[in-house]
Amino acid sequence: MDKLSVDVCVIGGGPAGMTLGLEVARRGCDVAVLEQTGHFNRSFRGETISPDAVSLLARLGILESVTDAGALVNRKMKLTENGRTLLEVDFDDFPHRHRHPLDVPQPTLLAILAQEAGRHTGFALLRNTSAVGLLETDGAVAGVRSRSPAGEQEIRARLTVGADGRYSKMLEMSCLPYRRTPLERDVVWLKLPAPPDWTSDTYHIRIAGGRHGLFIPTYPDLMRVGFNIPKGGLQNLRRAGLTGLHTRLDELAPELADLVRDSIRNWSDTSVLDIFTSVVPRWSRPGLLLIGDAAHTLSPILGQGVSHALFDAMTLAPLLSEALAKGPDEVTMAAREFQRIREPSLRRSRSLQLRQERMFTFSDPVRVALRSTFYRSLNRSPWLKKRLLGSVFFQLQNR
Ligand SMILES: Cc1cc2nc3c(=O)[nH]c(=O)nc-3n(C[C@H](O)[C@H](O)[C@H](O)COP(=O)(O)OP(=O)(O)OC[C@H]3O[C@@H](n4cnc5c(N)ncnc54)[C@H](O)[C@@H]3O)c2cc1C
Repeated sequence: MDKLSVDVCVIGGGPAGMTLGLEVARRGCDVAVLEQTGHFNRSFRGETISPDAVSLLARLGILESVTDAGALVNRKMKLTENGRTLLEVDFDDFPHRHRHPLDVPQPTLLAILAQEAGRHTGFALLRNTSAVGLLETDGAVAGVRSRSPAGEQEIRARLTVGADGRYSKMLEMSCLPYRRTPLERDVVWLKLPAPPDWTSDTYHIRIAGGRHGLFIPTYPDLMRVGFNIPKGGLQNLRRAGLTGLHTRLDELAPELADLVRDSIRNWSDTSVLDIFTSVVPRWSRPGLLLIGDAAHTLSPILGQGVSHALFDAMTLAPLLSEALAKGPDEVTMAAREFQRIREPSLRRSRSLQLRQERMFTFSDPVRVALRSTFYRSLNRSPWLKKRLLGSVFFQLQNR
């Protein structure tokens, strides 16, 4: 069996893993990032980068490359109920340097991170390579066993980082306890050509009783649509046939009826996301640490996942490179310190999302009326709007 030895072995080449790879390689460490796929192509993934995530791309020095490669600037967010606008947010009203969300295809972002990291001799991206087991020495994780088309390999590392996303195998293999909480809905995603009468700078949220849909302009000339179904409700939706799906969308965006019927002709044009949050009380054990969705899966609402993935990596890299220069105990302490720093912000995002999730599923008339009153009051108060939305989109930049 082939053997490799590095300072840091990162499992997963998503936003968290690639950013960590770049940031530790910049600090002179040897790092291998294992990615099970042979490409970065992934659709229906975090493409809306929150303003805080944009500020992090600037800090990483890659914002210009990302925008040059192609991105849409999101200037407004509009929440409409049965055709009436309840809330309109103009991101230009915020005083922050990076105030607009960006829509960036995740493959573009990951390719730029990989290119940037590849400039450093200590960085290796091992594509088509999956972590299949943990190596352990005296109770501490000492690396992973990996599998690729070339065969199995042992990769020894001073720290192994699980950045393998929402269905993390590293979390399973670590035996760290966790709690997964299914939310009340799942989401069906699909892509449409950008509707000619809709501007490409506005993110629309449409609600109708307990149903809601997100209509997100997507680079270069598409619109991503996500609408809720009851938890595990895919079979029922499918039983009603594609016509049932078309009709569901008509309730939220009747003006798109023709476009929907022309574009969505097969279930393979759709994708279903199982919505849950996961809480992992301890993100690390000696030799192993989890980051990104592996440590804290959030709901996709309000586009927070990429921002937290980037910020995890950028918080961890300096702590880790300093600790690696000292010894294994310091690495263990750095992993704990990392969780201590990052947890409060995640808790805030999770509780905001859960509140929002609950409001979106209201269907009885009293709660629907209260929800409308809440959004209208928010819309009328620029102060409240800045305060509430600022805590979602500008957590980092408000510091
Ligand atoms: C449908 C959908 C829409 C979303 N929309 C948004 C949005 O608009 N904005 C936003 O900010 N967030 C959004 N998110 C969330 C966002 O995509 C994630 O929070 C973010 O990608 C997390 O990054 P990560 O690096 O932790 O994990 P991931 O992006 O999931 O990356 C994990 C990587 O690990 C690899 N991997 C898994 N197992 C192994 C293994 N054993 N060995 C090697 N490699 C492995 C996977 O192939 C993958 O590349 C969305 C998520 C989904 C699913």
